Amino acid sequence: MKTLFSDRIHDVPRSFIREILKASIKPEVISFAGGLPNRQFFPVAALQKAANQVFEEQGATCLQYSNSEGLIELRQFIADRYRQEQNISVSADNILITNGSQQALDLIAKITINDGDQVIIEEPGYLGAIQALSFYRPEYMPVSVGAAGMDCGQLEHCCASGSPKLMYTVPNFQNPSGVTYPEKNRKDIADIVSGQPLLLVEDDPYGALRFSGARVPSFYHVLPEQTLLLGSFSKVVVPGFRLGWVVAPDAVFDKLLIAKQAADLHTCNFTQYIIHRFLQDNDLDEHIRTISGAYGRQCRAMRAAIVENFPEDVRCTMPEGGMFLWAELPGGASAMELFTRAVDNQVVFVPGDPFYTVPQRRSTLRLNFSCVNEELAEKGIVRLAEVIKTMLG
Ligand code: PMP
Repeated sequence: MKTLFSDRIHDVPRSFIREILKASIKPEVISFAGGLPNRQFFPVAALQKAANQVFEEQGATCLQYSNSEGLIELRQFIADRYRQEQNISVSADNILITNGSQQALDLIAKITINDGDQVIIEEPGYLGAIQALSFYRPEYMPVSVGAAGMDCGQLEHCCASGSPKLMYTVPNFQNPSGVTYPEKNRKDIADIVSGQPLLLVEDDPYGALRFSGARVPSFYHVLPEQTLLLGSFSKVVVPGFRLGWVVAPDAVFDKLLIAKQAADLHTCNFTQYIIHRFLQDNDLDEHIRTISGAYGRQCRAMRAAIVENFPEDVRCTMPEGGMFLWAELPGGASAMELFTRAVDNQVVFVPGDPFYTVPQRRSTLRLNFSCVNEELAEKGIVRLAEVIKTMLG
């Protein structure tokens, strides 16, 4: 029978997180479920000032249609920052401003994936990427990610047994696990995929939010021709402006630009001008230090409460930055069941299930620490520990 909807929409689930958040948000509930940056650090007054200045300086220009690549001054700022911060040399011409890095994921998938093409994806992996990629109906090749980074044995097997076109990674403070790929792991990955007809997507919205340890070099250093580097102002300034970007080699950039033109002509001109003005007049590094300092304190408080209150056989990651901790229940216990019980004890988290492309019962849970102060982090963990102990018996 003919249906009104495309085949493609049938395969894509609703965002599970958005659904459970709707169900669980009451003021008395302590939430470790969100994935939001802490609004306490949104530089509201400075952005307001920048917006006024933009209106004064640009007048109608900031309200006119603009080019699809994005504001050249902003792209130059991003290129300069890559050079200063990471010793990565990219031209502003290779940076496309997108409507958040989420749009970059959609555009990349649109220009590369035909139905059934193979895509390597981290397991667990970022839910928003799974949702964006799924529209293009790939065959997923999940590869495990753990404390030591990506499993290179599995990766080698994927490359030897199939012909993956795309590989999606979040190598810094991964969403959901908080894991950072060690340098050696990145080199090994690069050795495996180097020269293959495959693009490696390095999605890096959290890299700047490091609160301990030292920065690990980007895939761009070892695989510049094959890496698509995604960045975003969402976690270091504000997410509501929807400003992200993708750095791509010339040939890929050309195709992305066509997809961008077709999708929305260009990213909002006004917010690009505002953020550029803001970045001229404010010290982004100092702002990032404030955010990551607070997130570090909150993460440590949550970790300490976990160590003190959770049963010993619940495992937990130790992130050096970002916004998430990842825990695993012993004996294959269901994180979904724990979630249902936790709601009754007024604490919520995200069960691991939606972060995998293969649906099966999962024992993992994502705990967000960016939006809870130290006191709330501890209180929520104590509540969660009670539920875990009751459930595990
Ligand atoms: N990638 C990852 C790994 C994320 O966690 C997020 C946001 N939660 C995004 C991309 C999307 O971010 P943006 O606001 O830049 O679209």
